Amino acid sequence: MISLKNISKKFSTKQGTIVAVEEVNLDIKKGEIFGIIGYSGAGKSTLIRLLNGLEKPTSGEIIVNNEDITKINEVKLRQVRQKVSMIFQHFNLLWSRTVEENIAFPLEIAGIPPAQRSQRVKELIDLVGLEGRGHYYPSQLSGGQKQRVGIARALANRPEVLLCDEATSALDPETTDSILDLLVSINAKLGLTIVLITHEMQVIQKICGRVAVMEKGHVVEEGNVLDVFQNP
Ligand code: ADP
Ligand code: ADP
Repeated sequence: MISLKNISKKFSTKQGTIVAVEEVNLDIKKGEIFGIIGYSGAGKSTLIRLLNGLEKPTSGEIIVNNEDITKINEVKLRQVRQKVSMIFQHFNLLWSRTVEENIAFPLEIAGIPPAQRSQRVKELIDLVGLEGRGHYYPSQLSGGQKQRVGIARALANRPEVLLCDEATSALDPETTDSILDLLVSINAKLGLTIVLITHEMQVIQKICGRVAVMEKGHVVEEGNVLDVFQNP
């Protein structure tokens, strides 16, 4: 489904060159929940931004569905972004719009007609458990409910991959568990591939099958969660 081949990403700054990601190789399979864990500065965000084409690698190939996304034009890249969508630590909702309007936003951009749009929004609200909250504004929701809106919006155009960037890091442990349960049920129900980055081992242990451990831009360990986190 997703292959990273010898991916490096360097940033030029006034202080010199920063190597954010170096020589990373990863294979993520269709339908799995794959975790990427590491301390702050390890290169996780850069890696996830490379996966949906927000950044271009300095070298290497990123194959998504048999296509090298480092070599395609903007129009095709936008199609890839519909297939690979994302949720965020701070939700990134539109604050002046209601839950329904936030979820409808990507459908609007994709040119879906209003009647179909509201039908789809209704399905998504049910899917993420926000029944009765459609007319609320983000400021009237709890953190967990806001992330449910983020998830519904990310799923609107039926992506094949969901990237989660520290998606539970702003939430308390109980709410974290309920959002992770939702991700597991979406993965099972829709067969969606999930790639999740976090600095929290409990998150990986709770829902991921496989994990890559990042340190200073490198993947230093990779494998089944049970093997990687096994006590010596
Ligand atoms: P993580 O998500 O694991 O905290 P990041 O991918 O954000 O790590 O950062 C990895 C390294 O790359 C850090 O040293 C960071 O400062 C650097 N970095 C990330 N983005 C940029 C950028 N746009 N310009 C310069 N340096 C960057
Ligand atoms: P629009 O006018 O398109 O409805 P907004 O003005 O509501 O958009 O928001 C634009 C961006 O600013 C959004 O991406 C949102 O994340 C951010 N934003 C707006 N208000 C707030 C706020 N009170 N707190 C945090 N972010 C906000």
